Amino acid sequence: MAKRILVTGGAGFIGSHLCERLVADGHEVMCMDNLFTGRRENIQHLLGSGTFEFDRHDVNQPFVIECDQIFHLACPASPIHYQRNPVRTIRTCVEGTLHALECAREVGARLFIASTSEIYGDPAEHPQTETYWGNVNPIGPRACYDEGKRCAEALAVSFARQYGTDVRIARIFNTYGPRMHENDGRVVSNFVVQALRGEAITIYGDGKQTRSFCYVSDLVEAAIRFMNVDVDSATPLNLGNPHECTIGEIATMVGELTGSRSEVVYRSLPVDDPVRRRPDISRARALIGWEPAVALADGLRRTIDDFAGRVGPT
Ligand code: NAD
Ligand code: UDP
Repeated sequence: MAKRILVTGGAGFIGSHLCERLVADGHEVMCMDNLFTGRRENIQHLLGSGTFEFDRHDVNQPFVIECDQIFHLACPASPIHYQRNPVRTIRTCVEGTLHALECAREVGARLFIASTSEIYGDPAEHPQTETYWGNVNPIGPRACYDEGKRCAEALAVSFARQYGTDVRIARIFNTYGPRMHENDGRVVSNFVVQALRGEAITIYGDGKQTRSFCYVSDLVEAAIRFMNVDVDSATPLNLGNPHECTIGEIATMVGELTGSRSEVVYRSLPVDDPVRRRPDISRARALIGWEPAVALADGLRRTIDDFAGRVGPT
């Protein structure tokens, strides 16, 4: 049945793919975004659909929208963007989530919260299950985001316990794909842009640190399934691809898939950069019957094709 759905952060990378899918599924979609890291171009093609509207609004200001579901994604996600103005990042994680929860409570909507694998910090348990409480430095440069998202989770379960608000806490692991911003600063977009421009590929540290990369369409499918499953609000869910690889391997794959002759250069590792990360997705498999379908090489190819249309050699 068609629903009225609010997507905060809907003009961003993941948000725009989510909006596109929800419109295609026949829902009425309202996209709220302040365009800090998002772009109009990401959603331009949806504006003529008749079931999609865009509201330029900062979630740090209160809002009430009549709707059935809220996907709350508004927040800068890349370390360079969220560390630029750390106080604002915490505000967005905490105040923005508070406003989304207040809206959900007021109108009786179900709220999906985009939490993150960063709540596990530099994990002492591997792979990470939802029962692991994490290893986060509360005063490091990533704290504004990591602790902000941890507080967002705490707010969500508190609203659920105190007011019966219906929430879904998704812990999203590294996601990549078309429409990532070319200046986003995250590893896949950096490497692809560098390779296409023939610039040096910048590996931070020795490149042996690991991540597990999920293609955006897999993530969107999981998010929609999670939103629509009946489950207790205090059941966070890891959403990510358990295929783990080193950053050095990503550099090699991007180099090969682009046919680039870029050299690889090594730069210092950012403070508190997690050494390894891989989601245990047993709970997602059992609860929403989900398994990522897009292999890394295929996802990288599609991402490279998208960037190739936007980024030329320098
Ligand atoms: P993104 O930066 O492309 O999208 C974030 C969107 O939120 C942008 O459109 C931005 O303009 C908007 N925004 C930021 N602050 C806002 C504010 N105060 N008011 C209104 N809009 C605001 O990043 P993304 O990768 O699409 O991430 C979306 C969500 O998913 C974020 O909450 C992020 O923390 C979470 N997440 C993403 C990843 C990932 O790998 N992409 C991993 C874990 C969690
Ligand atoms: N990274 C890198 N070169 C880059 C950008 C990132 O080697 O140009 C590394 C970064 O240090 C980290 C990993 O790639 O170890 C993933 O970084 P990203 O910022 O994409 O995500 P996060 O650290 O938040 O998982």
